[in-house]
Amino acid sequence: MVMVSIAACDTYDLETVRHVLEGVLAPLGGMGRFVRPGMRVLLKPNLIVPLPLDRAVTTHPTVVRAVAEMVQAAGGEVWIGDSPAGPVRNSERLWQRTGMADVAAATGARLVHFDGVEWRHLRGQDYFIARPVFEADLIINLPKLKTHTLTLYTGAVKNLFGTIPGTRKREIHYRAPNIADFSRALADVLELVRPGLTIMDGVWGQEGNGPGASGTPRRYGCLAASADPVALDTVVSGAMGCRPGAVLHLREAAARSLGVADPQAIQVVGDRGALDFGRVHLPGVQRLLQVLLPRWASTPLQRAIRARPRLVSPEACMGCGHCVEACPRQIITPGRPPQFLLDQCIGCLCCAEVCPQGVIVPERGPLGRVLVGSR
Ligand code: SF4
Ligand code: SF4
Repeated sequence: MVMVSIAACDTYDLETVRHVLEGVLAPLGGMGRFVRPGMRVLLKPNLIVPLPLDRAVTTHPTVVRAVAEMVQAAGGEVWIGDSPAGPVRNSERLWQRTGMADVAAATGARLVHFDGVEWRHLRGQDYFIARPVFEADLIINLPKLKTHTLTLYTGAVKNLFGTIPGTRKREIHYRAPNIADFSRALADVLELVRPGLTIMDGVWGQEGNGPGASGTPRRYGCLAASADPVALDTVVSGAMGCRPGAVLHLREAAARSLGVADPQAIQVVGDRGALDFGRVHLPGVQRLLQVLLPRWASTPLQRAIRARPRLVSPEACMGCGHCVEACPRQIITPGRPPQFLLDQCIGCLCCAEVCPQGVIVPERGPLGRVLVGSR
């Protein structure tokens, strides 16, 4: 039976995180079960957008550092890499603002850029994936526990979408505009990028309209690990209140035997009480999707209720243009604030994810508001 290990952790104090991680990995065989001396190990945190750490958008550097040290203690060479949702124009700023530069300085880990790509063809689709993913001997996936306005939940499987560099992600949003197609694309990425171990930062995460600046930080107080990212996501998303099957990319991944999404087939070990999150505010549209058959996700009804971006506090816009570059439909005209051609919008909310000011928020039209509320 596939195993998911959980422990309570409500602080980013380094000593505490180290101690808790040792305990979380022990039932899985410890770091030594995954890392052999001389291995090149790529740590893949979630660095979607370089926002302040208290926004709980990115994997906390303390967790990354503790994992890096454990890998090194097992004899591995540590690489750290990710690419943000928008353009990879200033990696140095990304490393600095997400704390990864400090992790590298403290541990000697190598920060790797995700600008070089390798091409893969899968199920009739082209994927361009960061080269270090294929150069590493082992990938350790380090997701952040968050809600996601489009996919309901973002954790281990969704984090691997970051292996597609920068604005190449928008090509996938463009060809997979609805949630069903996008979920299949996420399963494709998991088929191409297979982490050997996943360790989730759930000390602080997000609820509501995550996963970027428009999400609401929330303390979940846990760290979790598994060799199976689908099983880990199944357990954690279930604790957040998502019923089995509601997260479509997990359902798709399980259907392809890429992991286990049946809660009855997953053994949860450790402190199960750490999964007692209480009521979590899930993105509104998903409450409806949870009571509809998943195939309805691609119907006109689903499109009609999908949230679109709205600018709030336009005076706070910096005119950085990140939203412009992230938009797969290229329907945002640069400016301060930018202008949106919403009649061509597919509601992917990439613009909201990358906005450093949090001034782009999801909003539904009249039908969406009647059916599922404004959020
Ligand atoms: S405007 Fe925003 S939500 Fe609409 S297609 Fe562009 S990035 Fe996606
Ligand atoms: S809306 Fe946000 S991402 Fe777009 S230009 Fe303004 S600050 Fe930048």
